[in-house]
Amino acid sequence: MSTPDYDIIIIGGGPAGLTAGLYASRARLKCLLIEKMFVGGLVATTETVENYPGFQDSIKGPELIQNMEEQAKRFGLEIMTGDVEKVGIGENELRNVKLTNKELSWSCLIVASGTKPNELGVNGESELRGRGVSYCATCDGPFFKDLDIAVIGGGNSAVEEGMFLTKYAKKVYIVHRRDKLRADKILQERAFDNKKIEFVWDSVLDKIEGSQTVNAIDVRNVKTDAVSKLDVGGVFMYVGIKPNTEFLNGVVSLDKRGFVITDDEMNTSVPGIFAAGDVRVKLLRQIATAVGDGATAAFAAEKYIDGMNR
Ligand SMILES: Cc1cc2nc3c(=O)[nH]c(=O)nc-3n(C[C@H](O)[C@H](O)[C@H](O)COP(=O)(O)OP(=O)(O)OC[C@H]3O[C@@H](n4cnc5c(N)ncnc54)[C@H](O)[C@@H]3O)c2cc1C
Repeated sequence: MSTPDYDIIIIGGGPAGLTAGLYASRARLKCLLIEKMFVGGLVATTETVENYPGFQDSIKGPELIQNMEEQAKRFGLEIMTGDVEKVGIGENELRNVKLTNKELSWSCLIVASGTKPNELGVNGESELRGRGVSYCATCDGPFFKDLDIAVIGGGNSAVEEGMFLTKYAKKVYIVHRRDKLRADKILQERAFDNKKIEFVWDSVLDKIEGSQTVNAIDVRNVKTDAVSKLDVGGVFMYVGIKPNTEFLNGVVSLDKRGFVITDDEMNTSVPGIFAAGDVRVKLLRQIATAVGDGATAAFAAEKYIDGMNR
């Protein structure tokens, strides 16, 4: 069998992929990271990170991730723009990844493709996407200066991003289907203290209205079924996530929601394929855990390659 193009191919350029790339490149393995959008993953779209250790006064997401990228490149990590559409593991064939116009083969694959936000599927959501409906406060917040806006959700992302949006918006409604938040206590305290935030409890989004841009939303109280209209110029959705694993269809074992099942060493059900970061089944999806997974996956891949060459 001929030599594969790379010892390790990493899919995804967020913190998990970049850390795997750093460890693999430092181990002098021939390593390629493939990223379909921009290197940085979700961290590149996060305004401020204050729970990643080592930065006493917090750090901007884009700055943190750019440091990770430069550090990995310093040890020789190759980075390529490309959308992995399929993973091939046919018997007696080189194991490969298929991109739109090329195939590249590997000895080990590290899947670090992260997640994307869930869509609610309500009327107006897809029609007004990019015209008042957004999934990224950091990217789009400045477009909503002095407007009233709504954030849908009650977890960390919803509360954190809701507070960030008060920098621009006149008022931020946080619409949550329960009567208490799921977000960390410290975030809750800050949000309750923020005069620009108004909570709309026990309520779900029913409809987004507008023709050129969003001008109102209908929210339904789940206890009374009463529907009320909020006049808002924008709506930000933070209602959960789903994994980017479509390209793995049938290759490795996934859970019911499509997250990759791994053991503690990041092995998937297929020897030589590892997964790291938010894409795998795990308790806590954060930068600190993503980088730990990336380091473990690269180290485990290195051991796997050593075993192949013995
Ligand atoms: C709004 C928000 C705020 C957050 N704030 C914090 C915070 O303050 N602190 C914290 O610790 N965590 C925070 N997080 C969570 C943190 O961003 C994630 O846990 C972390 O980014 C996960 O890293 P990852 O590398 O696993 O995935 P990601 O960062 O999602 O990166 C995955 C990458 O893979 C790429 N990709 C996907 N499919 C393919 C494909 N087929 N081919 C090629 N590339 C592909 C994607 O484009 C993406 O760049 C926040 C998340 C959000 C949404």
